[in-house]
Amino acid sequence: MPTTPLPILMPQIPGQRWSCHSCGRCCYDLVGHLSAEERARIDRQDWRGELGIEPYVRLGRSTVLNKHDDGACVFLDRATNLCRIHARFGEQAKPLACRIYPFTVRPVPQGWRVALRFDCPSAAGSQGEGLAKHRPFLGELVGALPHLAWREDVPRLTGTHRLSEIQTQRLTERLLRMLNARDEPLTWVLRRAAEVAATLAEARLDRVGVGRFDELTDLLFSANPDRLPAPPGADRAKAGVTRGARAMLRQLVYAFSAHATIHELRAGFFRRFGLRFRHLRDAGRFRRGRGEVPATHGLPPGVAFDRVDAVKAADDPGEAERIEDLVRRYLTERVASRSVFGAGYYDWPVVDGLLALWASAAAWGFLARHRAAAQGRAAITYDDAFESLRIVDRSATRSPALGTRTERMRLRYLARSGALPGLVEAYALVT
Ligand code: SF4
Repeated sequence: MPTTPLPILMPQIPGQRWSCHSCGRCCYDLVGHLSAEERARIDRQDWRGELGIEPYVRLGRSTVLNKHDDGACVFLDRATNLCRIHARFGEQAKPLACRIYPFTVRPVPQGWRVALRFDCPSAAGSQGEGLAKHRPFLGELVGALPHLAWREDVPRLTGTHRLSEIQTQRLTERLLRMLNARDEPLTWVLRRAAEVAATLAEARLDRVGVGRFDELTDLLFSANPDRLPAPPGADRAKAGVTRGARAMLRQLVYAFSAHATIHELRAGFFRRFGLRFRHLRDAGRFRRGRGEVPATHGLPPGVAFDRVDAVKAADDPGEAERIEDLVRRYLTERVASRSVFGAGYYDWPVVDGLLALWASAAAWGFLARHRAAAQGRAAITYDDAFESLRIVDRSATRSPALGTRTERMRLRYLARSGALPGLVEAYALVT
């Protein structure tokens, strides 16, 4: 019996566009997981002797496309910057992970929830066609997906209580209105959003209950900011961000920027032991924040922590305007695609997901300052914000380090101490 295709739920992001411009970056960044059928198809394509290395390898319980030492996909043709499978057998012969990028999809009761990854430069730069143009292609792709069990698309409020679909919609609409209030300075909006999240974190939502959550958020979102109930410690945040809070932010930055290559993850015991040792050493350096920022796969060497903190937010009006547009589009995407709490974000409850989102804006500000300092600039430029978003978005929702209990506790501490709004302001991308 024919079945009706499920709706494709595209995130509504004002002004957002995308088309592939064949820059080849995803062929370095993406870890391409293969199904058994895709593996068999690659075997049938018979690449023996052409690639120099195996076409795919085991990674834990998965099979993934193999990579060269510099991170390039085994199928990337460096002469043309194009995929060899695509060139020889056509687009449809490529693994699904490559075909669908930079979109991701997850099945929810209402259809296929689509998210757009901003680690693709064309997505971050909003270049190409409007997103609605890609709906038929995505519909075709999801039609070919194996049956996947849908997951609840509404987040937990706290404990086991979930918001209803209507409540989740109302919450995301409020957040989107806040993010897109263009008459208000962006840094002010983000600081205020962090204050609301910190206040919710203190609200003992387990006692407030799901039923009164709307009432509480109505009150907080519509409150005169000067009358917002101040979280404990807010005076300290006003007076400046404490050293402890900065140390926690640096640890978050490390969680965003440190990642292991598939070769490191597949290495033998001694190499993995060395990797673990390096990880602990670098994490300690980020916590202390003295001397040079340790180089990671995302951060170049040779930049001292105090030089990062000395870099100012973008002050050139033209640069600041472009950065504002980028920040608003990115955060809008995260909220509109519901990649910010619940099944879209490590299955975290509402408040923890919101704390993580606003903290990621501060981490992004740190990373942009690092890039500016590495290139000898005193203030952030659009390119600094653009390139450092690649680090943030590559990890958010994907890095296991960001979904740990320790991370949640750290965010809760930043909220409880009143430091989060101060950090969002201190590491703002624009003045
Ligand atoms: S990173 Fe984006 S623009 Fe570049 S090749 Fe991949 S999908 Fe295309």
